[in-house]
Amino acid sequence: MKKNEQYQVKIVNISSDGNGVAFNDNIPIFVPYSSVGDEAVVRIERVEKRYCYGRIVDLLSPSPHRIDVDCPLFERCGGCAFRHVTYSEELRAKRQFVIDAIQRIGKIDHPVDEILHTDVTEYYRNKAQFPVGNDEDHLFPGFYAPRSHRMLQFPSACKLQPVCFDELVKTACSILEKYGCTSYDEQEHKGLIRHILVRQSSLTQKILISFIINGSSLPHQGEIVSDLISKFPAIASVSIDINTNKGNTILTPNYQTIWGEPSIHDEILGVPVEITPLSFFQINHFSTELLYSTIKSMVEDLKVKTVIDLYCGAGTIGLATTSSEQTLYGIELIDDAIESAISSAKTMNRTDAHFICGDAGEIKALIDTGIYPDLIITDPPRKGCSPEVLEQIIRSDSPNLIMVSCNAATLARDLQILAQNGYTIDSIQPIDMFPRTRHVEVISALSKIN
Ligand code: SAH
Repeated sequence: MKKNEQYQVKIVNISSDGNGVAFNDNIPIFVPYSSVGDEAVVRIERVEKRYCYGRIVDLLSPSPHRIDVDCPLFERCGGCAFRHVTYSEELRAKRQFVIDAIQRIGKIDHPVDEILHTDVTEYYRNKAQFPVGNDEDHLFPGFYAPRSHRMLQFPSACKLQPVCFDELVKTACSILEKYGCTSYDEQEHKGLIRHILVRQSSLTQKILISFIINGSSLPHQGEIVSDLISKFPAIASVSIDINTNKGNTILTPNYQTIWGEPSIHDEILGVPVEITPLSFFQINHFSTELLYSTIKSMVEDLKVKTVIDLYCGAGTIGLATTSSEQTLYGIELIDDAIESAISSAKTMNRTDAHFICGDAGEIKALIDTGIYPDLIITDPPRKGCSPEVLEQIIRSDSPNLIMVSCNAATLARDLQILAQNGYTIDSIQPIDMFPRTRHVEVISALSKIN
């Protein structure tokens, strides 16, 4: 196949990055924003050694799973992968990603449970960061086109974010403009306002807003804040984050509260969390409760005494799913997250909970001091558990493991290694944490009889 050639194909599957898959002469063609059952003419846009990418130029017969797209930015923004199909088809496709990864990458023959999900498929994000741009007349909150730094404007509000975010950032931009603030120009490294960060507590609905600035202060700060809070009484915390660096890192540790509280308070399955501009907190409260309560019932069934929570973030999985009858150790790389975990444990009176800032490989030191976990929970970033961590898990002889993953491919790889080292896979449970996006979460329980 060559670039710009056109082929008539039928979409037969969805790949793990949300693209439809068709075949021509046994060569896969990945077709973004297509649906299983579509018959279409596609134009080849990119040719790789063993596969190609194509785009639909003529949809001859649409898939029965298709629905009307309700966002004018779908296909341009890149945030959603599934606004053009029913939610039930999305769930089917996501479970299939997991089945495919387990079988093809992990070479594991084990059933995959039906995917769990909540009924909340829209407006679920509790955090958003908007780059600020300008046209001839006005400042505006925008977003970057996928894989680029080309700024686009929102013609309508994003369906994954709370409705109030859209109005809030638009109003914030006009207030900033009124007081003469300029938007940051990345090419020239000039201009003041780089981004606006908004976070909302699902418990209190209170809002934290932070202006990320290329400068040391916000001129007319008092007036800006007073205009803003008079229009949005839900705002409880306003900060500036000083980021004068070139490059595209959004937040820096150099932030200061300029009005209100330094944080907003939230809770996840009974665990209190203070949210600052920088703190790590799950993006979708509803599905996180589902994730944690699923893990909690697994932990309750196991009747364990000593639990190690690796890649523990703000300690929320361990604190939400164990009780003070158990001893809990959490390990996490980010210092801020560990401080948050320690503070939550204190508020919960969990004197039995210990949090360590360091690489998850520090589990070796715990085992070396004679701590024998009877459950290890892992929740690594997309690249999965490191080889050292897997080696220490195997060495720990922990009779139970609960592995949480946001990447079925690396989970499959890790499960294969553990299965080759004495562990039995008891369950593989997909969960849809982020409806309409390509992401799918998986929990897998393993055990070992020593
Ligand atoms: N379990 C938490 C966070 C999971 S996200 C929750 O449910 O909220 C993955 C976490 O792994 C992040 O907090 C990240 O900072 C942390 N992390 C990444 N690499 C790490 C490493 N090498 N060692 C320890 N933690 C790491």
